[in-house]
Amino acid sequence: MEKKQFQAESKRLLELMINSIYTQKEIFLRELISNASDAIDKIYYKALTDDSLSFNKEDYYIEITPDIEKRTLTIADTGIGMTKEELENNLGIIAKSGSLSFKNENEIKDGHDIIGQFGVGFYAAFMVADVVTVKSRALGSDTAYQWQSEGADGYTITPCEKDAVGTEIILQLKENTEDEDYDTYLQEYRLKEIVKKYSDFIRYPIKMEVTKSKPKDDESDEYTEYKEEETINSMVPIWRKNKDELTDEDYENFYQEKHYGFDKPLKHIHVKVDGNIRYNAIMFIPEKAPYDYYTADFEKGLELYSNGVLIMEKCADLLPDYFSFVKGMVDSEDLSLNISREMLQHDRQLKLIAKNINKKIKQQLLQLLRDNRDGYVSFFQSFGRQLKYGVYADFGANKETLQDLLMFYSSKEKKLVTLDEYVSRMPEDQKYIYYAAGESNERIAKLPQTELVADKGYEILYFTDEVDEFAIKMLMNYKDKEFRSVASDDLGIDMTEENKQADKEAEEHKDLFDEMKNILAGKVSDVKVSKRLKSHPVCLSAEGEISLEMEKVLNAMPN
Ligand code: ADP
Ligand code: MG
Repeated sequence: MEKKQFQAESKRLLELMINSIYTQKEIFLRELISNASDAIDKIYYKALTDDSLSFNKEDYYIEITPDIEKRTLTIADTGIGMTKEELENNLGIIAKSGSLSFKNENEIKDGHDIIGQFGVGFYAAFMVADVVTVKSRALGSDTAYQWQSEGADGYTITPCEKDAVGTEIILQLKENTEDEDYDTYLQEYRLKEIVKKYSDFIRYPIKMEVTKSKPKDDESDEYTEYKEEETINSMVPIWRKNKDELTDEDYENFYQEKHYGFDKPLKHIHVKVDGNIRYNAIMFIPEKAPYDYYTADFEKGLELYSNGVLIMEKCADLLPDYFSFVKGMVDSEDLSLNISREMLQHDRQLKLIAKNINKKIKQQLLQLLRDNRDGYVSFFQSFGRQLKYGVYADFGANKETLQDLLMFYSSKEKKLVTLDEYVSRMPEDQKYIYYAAGESNERIAKLPQTELVADKGYEILYFTDEVDEFAIKMLMNYKDKEFRSVASDDLGIDMTEENKQADKEAEEHKDLFDEMKNILAGKVSDVKVSKRLKSHPVCLSAEGEISLEMEKVLNAMPN
């Protein structure tokens, strides 16, 4: 049988690919810069084993040059360059990754700095350009070649002039259309913005001539413009630095630079993990909730980087909802990306990282509670409700994680206390953790139902958030102590005396109670002598499991 080769309709394939794998056109710059960085890395790796090569960091950089008149954007690098064959193979064959082969051929185990692997990123250039010209001179070669293509119709390769080793990619930008403004990729601020967003931590300088202005002379108010070359990326990601090299201020600057929030973060969490899965993360616990935090508009997530290149701006899977207030980033070299490198192929690694991060956040919150109680209280006032939702939402599945982080207002301490503090103060004869629900601390303090428990000298937790009681129902108990509403029938308090007295009174005033029941028929189910009132004449009490406050919430819910 004759075996036939698939004939790819490369023209259509290219178009399909270019227009379907990337969600944003600006990604083309990320891809070309990543390739340039890979090309420099390759010289670096070669120099490690080749004594005739030396690697002076100053010689290696990437340069971006917009030309407004010609409407071209050039991305040049001083990397390893491509021979004629390499131009043919690496740029002429879609899905052929010269970088992946390089890693394999050179058996680079720690070659995780090399970004390329899929062999499609380069073609992203055709999202914004009609004509792409690549001039390249390979390391060790005297001749340079030019590869040129208008996309679908194939390419030409011709010899060309190029003085230095490296590659220059010249994009002839597409004409603007009604929906799409391609001129934007010629504007300095826009180019800077895209570089900052995706390629800020590329390890080699990304240079660009930027326009600046200065006063004409000392006295003059007039300014003259001049050009100056600037490095527009920060290069060294602070998360790769050692913790002891960094000050609180460095972290705060990073928080501000990244626009994680306008407040000053309460705490930073810097994690470097080098185990089964390798990752670095810098996370922050903010002090104040953003204005939209408790709305549907709020989007949780951490920034996700692969080798210092931004992959996802808000990776939601990294944070459980109850820690959705955490800001920051994760960088890992062990992620398997899909080919647009905008998503992940498998979530196994991500799940591992998420689990790990979850633990760290909890640890750090507990530490904040220990070391900076005022800070923690302020944090809890902003985000405590979210933690309580967390307890409630998963039917208590997060009990272990969250119970020690909760705080409630205490009748005795007159401030927020933890459950641990409450339980450790409990007198021996106290059976339950008591709570009372109401609109505000002041109103709860006046509730007749609290009298008996308070009279016995027991501490009461005040529940003023609607979610409080729901969350506590899910927790069920804390350190083997059950929660009990002060309005509950069974308070676990020795009531022998009170019972005797109540029975006596019920007997004596039987007619009165019957008459009251008659008058209130249909409004209450029973009228009884209360055993818990001390100074109040009357109180309402709930039957069964649900307290009056919970009933109010349930009744207010849309059905
Ligand atoms: P990937 O980067 O995933 O390998 P690309 O489509 O981005 O795929 O690039 C294809 C190949 O072209 C690269 O693997 C590399 O061999 C080569 N290449 C692209 N840009 C450059 C460059 N600036 N310098 C040297 N080689 C390059
Ligand atoms: Mg690439």
